[in-house]
Amino acid sequence: MFTVKKIFHICYGHRLLNYKGRCSNLHGHNAKVEIILKSGLLNSRKMVVDFEKIKKIIGSWLDSNLDHKTVLAENDPLAKVLKKNKQALFLTPGNPTAEVLAELIFDFAKDRKLPVKKVKFWETENSCASYQKSEVRSQKSEE
Ligand SMILES: [Zn+2]
Repeated sequence: MFTVKKIFHICYGHRLLNYKGRCSNLHGHNAKVEIILKSGLLNSRKMVVDFEKIKKIIGSWLDSNLDHKTVLAENDPLAKVLKKNKQALFLTPGNPTAEVLAELIFDFAKDRKLPVKKVKFWETENSCASYQKSEVRSQKSEE
């Protein structure tokens, strides 16, 4: 199997609700997003997917949705205030953790028909969440 990986960098602000700790305060991250695509066969141009295509699809989605935005839970009361003040927001169902953002990017890539294998979302240099669809078997194997 072949894989290709593309890396993006974004800045965003967020905070976590129902959380006792530093991340309950509004703060920002310089995040790194890694998207890994897979294919058993190469296309006619001998690629999994053209890096330029990945950049165009994923890069522009990240730019217009997450980069330099405040990412909050849909039910965060701060969202109303920021919206009223014309601040760029992105709302997530539940807390905007690195895990949630990794899944969101994965699902977007899948929707756009990219053969995504895994998305890794580095919230900091040392903290990374990744998401990939588990290959669930329809039946349990007999032992
Ligand atoms: Zn954070």
